[in-house]
Amino acid sequence: MDAKMKRKILVAFDFDKTFVDADSSEMIIQLTQFKSIPGILKRLLSSEGWEKRRVLFSLLHVFGITPNDILNHLSTIQLVPGIRDLLYGLPREDTEIIIVSDGYSLAIDVVLKKEGLQDVISKVFTNHTEFDKEGHLIIHPYHQQNWCYLSKRNMCKGDILTSYIKSREEQNVVFPTIAYVGDGNNDFCPSIRLRERDLVFPRRGYSLYNILVRYEQKGFHLDAEVHPWDSGTDILEKLLPHYQTLNSNQVLPVPRIENSDASKDN
Ligand SMILES: [Mg+2]
Repeated sequence: MDAKMKRKILVAFDFDKTFVDADSSEMIIQLTQFKSIPGILKRLLSSEGWEKRRVLFSLLHVFGITPNDILNHLSTIQLVPGIRDLLYGLPREDTEIIIVSDGYSLAIDVVLKKEGLQDVISKVFTNHTEFDKEGHLIIHPYHQQNWCYLSKRNMCKGDILTSYIKSREEQNVVFPTIAYVGDGNNDFCPSIRLRERDLVFPRRGYSLYNILVRYEQKGFHLDAEVHPWDSGTDILEKLLPHYQTLNSNQVLPVPRIENSDASKDN
């Protein structure tokens, strides 16, 4: 390994129900529940997926829900227990913390600002939202993908993680250990791409945890170590020992993370 390379541990978080104890899109649906909504729209909103969310967000204004109502509601979101201890318990100089979320930028911005965590998070990858001049909340897909059947069309988290690691390598930062913390179905793709030096932290009792249990029952195993967790402090305890070997001359796996074909092959 090139001596000028800086070695760090990368901790990648999902956001909804992992970083915060809320689903930020469900929070928006809560805002509409006391409004009278035409039946045809209710049927559309009860369908799954990206389109539902896009339509719902853009119509909030029609139901009399103002940008301030949205901001006030989002500001009630709480961190998952132990997450603050985890963020501040990791050696700052040797750690890079990112969020990879199929939520949306407004909710993440509100939480990070309220909790004073903007400087702790190096980068946020999510669907961008903005208010237009009329106060409509517009959500844009993070990207449009057709290469990963494990992921939704608007976001393949494994691909985001792979690109990020590659871009940091070009800036002379390598990650001997990568930790991925998540709870949902869409956290499976990044989890299966991690290698034997890495750690996957599925929140106990949630979808990712259940998927990994079934995966193992079928005789499959992730290359990465799997550590179910209930509190952020469980994650801190498992991660801290990895800093002791951070600057030893271990050979890192090549490729450092499985490429996008991995999700097609599994
Ligand atoms: Mg989640």
